[in-house]
Amino acid sequence: MTSHGAAACTTQKCRFYRPYLMDNAMPTTPDVQRISSSPDRSTLSEMDRPPLTLKLANLAAVVIPFAGLVVAIVLLWHIAFDWLYLAILVGMYLVTAGGIAVGYHRLFTHRSFKTSKPVVAILAVMGSMAVEGPVLRWVATHRRHHQYSDQDSDPHSPHGHGTGLWSMIRGMWHSHVGWLFKPEIEGLEQYIGDLRKDSLVCWMSQHFTLWVILGLVIPTVLGGVLTLSWTGALLGFIWGGPVRVCLVHHMTWSINSVCHIWGTKPYNTHDHSRNNAIMGVVALGEGWHNNHHAFPTSARHGLRWWQLDVSYMIIWTMSKIGLIQAVRIPTKDRVIAKRMT
Ligand SMILES: [Zn+2]
Ligand SMILES: [Zn+2]
Repeated sequence: MTSHGAAACTTQKCRFYRPYLMDNAMPTTPDVQRISSSPDRSTLSEMDRPPLTLKLANLAAVVIPFAGLVVAIVLLWHIAFDWLYLAILVGMYLVTAGGIAVGYHRLFTHRSFKTSKPVVAILAVMGSMAVEGPVLRWVATHRRHHQYSDQDSDPHSPHGHGTGLWSMIRGMWHSHVGWLFKPEIEGLEQYIGDLRKDSLVCWMSQHFTLWVILGLVIPTVLGGVLTLSWTGALLGFIWGGPVRVCLVHHMTWSINSVCHIWGTKPYNTHDHSRNNAIMGVVALGEGWHNNHHAFPTSARHGLRWWQLDVSYMIIWTMSKIGLIQAVRIPTKDRVIAKRMT
């Protein structure tokens, strides 16, 4: 049983959805053609060199908040933080970041595998607890990112904002978090024609607030029960709730900014996507972003044996115990064919 085939939750028909997220699809629109055809070398070499100012602005924006969190943890050790709250923070991070990577991204956006309704529901709840918006909106925005990667219509590209210092900083800020405060993008529903026919996914998306509250209640209860104190409940809430949410947000935003600026580009893609080893580890495999743009429907982003991809390890394990089927991986020939020469 899969998540497909459920009754439609809306009467609006999908008029525009095309399988451009399937890397073997034949694109039909000029924009899709642009991202799917082989780019010429001069364009690629231009794109291979993000300006130093942009790189430094991005580095500062990503490292400073994280360093602040580490300093806070050190200063508060045995005062308002200890091994218990570290376990709650890390546990909630893994559950919700995993919900984004395995659920929101690889299942709902790219259909990298099939699974049963209970697993669909659990992954939707886990992803929703990351507080990055209802699943339908997240998927629509991300599919648009793939269609227009680093072009004008990309919702969150760090590129194309100008060449001066201020423009570079603005571009970095826009890709990391600024895009969230921009006016609503019109026509996003055209990207989710398939999911709008799935009543379970629609229901999970409509009850987003409930899952967010659940994601705050769980660490609060854990902190309270494990310490048998109200102080423990409050600290469980703080570290497993708002602090964890900030950390997961920062991780996801860094994929949009860091992984389109810093790293290597082993595969031919008509964008600035990069493989970044640090993001590959901390973002549970999502940092192998050039691999991902080259093979969007692949359930495995760490294509080389040394590219740690925790999300794929979870998918692989779930497939071995029968919870997941039809896991999509590109063939060796296709991987070799897309390699930069
Ligand atoms: Zn990207
Ligand atoms: Zn993607």
